[in-house]
Amino acid sequence: MEKVIIVGTGCAGLTAAIYAGRASFEPLVLEGREPGGQLSTTTLVENFPGFVDGIDGPMLIMNMKSQAQRFGARFQYSTVTGFEPKQGFVSLQLDNAEWIDARTVIIASGASARWLGIPGERALVGHGLTSCATCDGAFYRNVPVAVVGGGDSACEEASFLTRFASKVYLVHRRDKLRASKFMADRALGNPKIEPLWNSAITGYLTDDQNEVRAVTLGDVLTGGVRELEVKCVFVAIGHTPNTAPFRGKLEMDEEGYLLRRNGTLTNIPGVFVAGDVADRVYKQAVTAAGQGCAAALDAEHYLANLE
Ligand code: NAP
Repeated sequence: MEKVIIVGTGCAGLTAAIYAGRASFEPLVLEGREPGGQLSTTTLVENFPGFVDGIDGPMLIMNMKSQAQRFGARFQYSTVTGFEPKQGFVSLQLDNAEWIDARTVIIASGASARWLGIPGERALVGHGLTSCATCDGAFYRNVPVAVVGGGDSACEEASFLTRFASKVYLVHRRDKLRASKFMADRALGNPKIEPLWNSAITGYLTDDQNEVRAVTLGDVLTGGVRELEVKCVFVAIGHTPNTAPFRGKLEMDEEGYLLRRNGTLTNIPGVFVAGDVADRVYKQAVTAAGQGCAAALDAEHYLANLE
């Protein structure tokens, strides 16, 4: 019987691991499908407190992991597929079908990138379609690319891609960005970025190698469609919370975000939540870290009451 299992290794999970480790619980941390979470696919993080000149997202994550390991956290490459609350403990099923039990579980499984939902889209991922500019941007040097979305992610990715691409189209379905003023101004002020307002990608066109060569672009106001030549599409339209294994067991909203009660508690005693999996408002690295800390403290309090 584990005392603390932490599901997820983004900012929330790793901060929970640091705190639970330091409280001598030797937490078992399950890495999940996307180890390191969203920060591991970003570049410079300029707004995490304590780093005057910013820090690379993957470096920040690696530091947090090492810090947790220093305090006795144990890491395992597993994904949770099943969840059963029992009397006084919780059983988790892993992707190898094994079940493990824990007195407390901290769910910090984050949220995964959304796609446009165009038929055949998934088959093009890695062939001119991606959700990660940091991972794939450097493959598209001196060619035109498109970023879809109007939020901070889209602006950040578009700005980053100007290092490589000859031109970056920022395709947004409205005529106003959702992004923060700072990020929006930076993107729109970059001469390599051309915003395409009121526009939606309606299809991907491929070459004989089955790599994206262009997209069909719909004007959402007029209904007109035209072809836009781009070698890669970077989709940055938000995320879906990773809560499938908990459906029907833990309370969640209509989009699948877990509902918190009174801090990080859930409707199941001994189960706590932290980070983007339960946050549809702030979604920042530092708020996720703060919630990870709070969840570990709540778990510690719960365990103390059991004894
Ligand atoms: P977001 O703020 O939810 O923005 C998603 C964007 O995608 C919106 O502009 C939305 O359009 C568009 N969109 C959604 N579904 C679409 C669809 N099916 N087709 C076309 N467009 C679609 O997501 P995000 O940009 O990933 O940011 C998430 C959170 O992380 C935010 O709180 C953000 O501040 C934070 N973040 C911060 C930083 C930073 O500070 N360095 C960097 C990245 C992200 P509408 O505007 O029309 O809804």
